[in-house]
Amino acid sequence: MIKKVSKLFKSLKVITFLTDIVIFGLTSAITILVAVSFDKTDLIDQKVKVVKQYCAELSRRLNSNAYLVNSSENTGITNEMSIIADNYDGRILIIDSALRCISDTYNLETDKTFISTEVIKALKNSYGEIRNNSSVEIYYPVGSVENGDDTELKGVIMFSFSTESEADSAEKLGINLLILAIPCLVFVIIIAVFHSRYISKPIKNITVSLNHISAGYVDSKIEIRNFLEFEEMTEAFNNMISRLNSLENSRQEFVSNVSHELKTPLTSIKILADSLVMQPDAPPEVYREFLGDINSEIDRENKIITDLLELVKLDRNNGELHIAMVSVNELLEILMKRIKPIAQTRNVELIYESYRKVDAEIDEVKVMLALSNLVENAVKYNTTGGWVKVTLDSDHKYFTVTVADSGIGIPEESLGMIFERFYRVDKMRARKTGGTGLGLSITKSVIMMHNGTINVESTEGEGTTFIVKIPLTFIENNSTEA
Ligand code: ADP
Repeated sequence: MIKKVSKLFKSLKVITFLTDIVIFGLTSAITILVAVSFDKTDLIDQKVKVVKQYCAELSRRLNSNAYLVNSSENTGITNEMSIIADNYDGRILIIDSALRCISDTYNLETDKTFISTEVIKALKNSYGEIRNNSSVEIYYPVGSVENGDDTELKGVIMFSFSTESEADSAEKLGINLLILAIPCLVFVIIIAVFHSRYISKPIKNITVSLNHISAGYVDSKIEIRNFLEFEEMTEAFNNMISRLNSLENSRQEFVSNVSHELKTPLTSIKILADSLVMQPDAPPEVYREFLGDINSEIDRENKIITDLLELVKLDRNNGELHIAMVSVNELLEILMKRIKPIAQTRNVELIYESYRKVDAEIDEVKVMLALSNLVENAVKYNTTGGWVKVTLDSDHKYFTVTVADSGIGIPEESLGMIFERFYRVDKMRARKTGGTGLGLSITKSVIMMHNGTINVESTEGEGTTFIVKIPLTFIENNSTEA
């Protein structure tokens, strides 16, 4: 149960819904509170202002009619005060300077002594006002400077009146606002339901699409277009899916190529062996010739497997390099020495030229393998009496190895494909030369691991030049950004 509830609170739909409701609830609560409190004080302020104006007018009249000396002759004013006090649901007291109550609209304090701090303060010519919860008391001086009479003060008007009706109307307003808030809340709930659905629906659709793709429909695409962010996200997903698809396609193609390449020498061996079995009386020369062919097919199979293992190792240990400071001059000298015998058997001249001493941070074994493939190819795809020239140079950042030959060259349309696995320009010729179509892919992988570049220029019938550029200092290549 608790798990179910906590899962509910993780739902974007539920959170959006609740946020909408909370925002509306808080806004309306604050609005009602502010409206009610402003309204109440506004109404009371208004009433106090009117009463104060009346007190000022009364004070002037009490003064001019000498009410404090002779109240019994001013019954008109006394009656008027009673009516006004009733109107305001209040009470008016007139107190003289001896603190004697001259007049009381309630007739309770008349002729009695009335002592209060506010009265004493008002007698010192200061206006006083006390606000209670449901009433206000106003103390107004009579015969004050304000009335243009700067003689000694003669008395005080005390006007107390109820503010309950103002509080009531503010309360009524609050209730009305609350009543109005209920249909608004219903409306907001409906909006919140649609809003939360609108927000969460695209995510749900993405999940459905991803499940569809996981179920095997790898060519389907995600199409969500209601928000820019979702659009960007689906675009990124679609890119990822098409990348995975192309990886899967090249993996399948690779597997089928591997099976085909491994099967070819086996098929030849089988045919050769079968023909020997079929002719038990074949002369020893035929046996020798067939066994020689079988032997070279086994060598070929062996070479394919060795290259494949090398390539798989490079793929799997992508980035696993044993970097050390290596003298590239020495590395190339060793390489040239190793290839010399093969070149001699094919009557190809090997030239090595180094423009300067080069030390670089590289994986010696892997770079040796990569460059060997280039030089071996230059010898392999050469013509009798041809040449292969290897040069080494460097600037402050890179070292450059060029392998140029005077061989058969590569047709222009094949130049873009020679680095692909198992690609060979002339399959028949490659078979004769023992090519597997994997050498240049191995070379390219190694150079890429070193953050280097490889370029090729070739003219058919004239020769080919491979240019390899590798940084002198190894830079760790982080494929993921922080
Ligand atoms: P292979 O094992 O067949 O040599 P590679 O991957 O090393 O495989 O080379 C791919 C193809 O590129 C070769 O089959 C060949 O046709 C072509 N090629 C590579 N190097 C040269 C070169 N120096 N001259 C002419 N063709 C070349």
